[in-house]
Amino acid sequence: MPIYKRCSKCGKRIPSGTTCECIKQIRRQQKKERDKDYDQHRRNKTNAAFYKTKAWVLTKEDVLAHYMYIDLYAYYHDGKFVPATMVHHIIPVSKDYTKRLDRDNLIPLSDKRHGIVHKQMKEGREEEIIQLLLEYKEKWKKKENSEVGGVVKLF
Ligand SMILES: [Zn+2]
Ligand SMILES: [Zn+2]
Repeated sequence: MPIYKRCSKCGKRIPSGTTCECIKQIRRQQKKERDKDYDQHRRNKTNAAFYKTKAWVLTKEDVLAHYMYIDLYAYYHDGKFVPATMVHHIIPVSKDYTKRLDRDNLIPLSDKRHGIVHKQMKEGREEEIIQLLLEYKEKWKKKENSEVGGVVKLF
């Protein structure tokens, strides 16, 4: 006759010297969380290193020059000329690392508009913003001017 004890967590009767399923389940869950944190940490490190690569610095400069250092969001959304100071990944690097140097995925923005874009994406509008930014790039490609009045014609 095995000796039984009660699980301290759920109170189920289990053979003494064994671990209750409910505790095993919690441990599995904890391990999963730890692995997830580790993966995220490793990804962040990879991404941070990427922004320092020569390939990125050159691509970024090239994209800025291609769009004449104009913040495309400010231009098409607000009808304003604002100097672009950085290049944003439309589909984030953390989501698709293979698109990190893909020019179709890159758009010049000012720091201020970049902040706005990320804030909106965080608010659950990620898909919408991605489509919007791709649209702006398409407009530029077709040499469409901003539709807002008072804007100097670019082309
Ligand atoms: Zn239990
Ligand atoms: Zn960004």
